[in-house]
Amino acid sequence: MSVLDIIHYGNPVLRKVCKPVNKFDNINNIINDMFESMYEADGIGLAANQVGIDMHIFIIDISHTDETDDTHIFINSKIIAFENEKEIFQEGCLSLPGIALDILRPKKIILKYQTPDKIWHENKFEGLLGRAIQHEIDHLNGVFIVDRVTELERIKYKAELKSLEKESKDKMGKVTEKKGFLL
Ligand SMILES: [Zn+2]
Repeated sequence: MSVLDIIHYGNPVLRKVCKPVNKFDNINNIINDMFESMYEADGIGLAANQVGIDMHIFIIDISHTDETDDTHIFINSKIIAFENEKEIFQEGCLSLPGIALDILRPKKIILKYQTPDKIWHENKFEGLLGRAIQHEIDHLNGVFIVDRVTELERIKYKAELKSLEKESKDKMGKVTEKKGFLL
């Protein structure tokens, strides 16, 4: 098991639509690494591309708000229906440190997904869990919370977004240098 680096806004991997999972052979190792990385970063949800894995997987653990709730793993998920009623809730994001935005989303959704045993499920979700699911599915589609607010809201975080972009660019530059030395 290993803790993986959380990738921040500005890295193009977070703008890609993640690939569906076909091979489940190594899935438990990947999921264990994702949980370890999420807990290390004090997150309650994590999408695979946030740790650089191009697979349609996300995990959630909201047991800090509801002790009876277990950890959740969603593979190849799709929202198949949602309620017209929406609500506003403030969301933060591991890939956007220092930014929190009020996001409007449907209150209830119906999600179709697979678990690591390959079994398909169809369930209704609401509350914090339903909210977190919608946030993580956005990630797997290359969408951030900053894309879900008006230009006026986004502009408040212009400086933060710029510095995150620069930081991601610098990190990627370093990787290229290392590769250069290996040649
Ligand atoms: Zn996020």
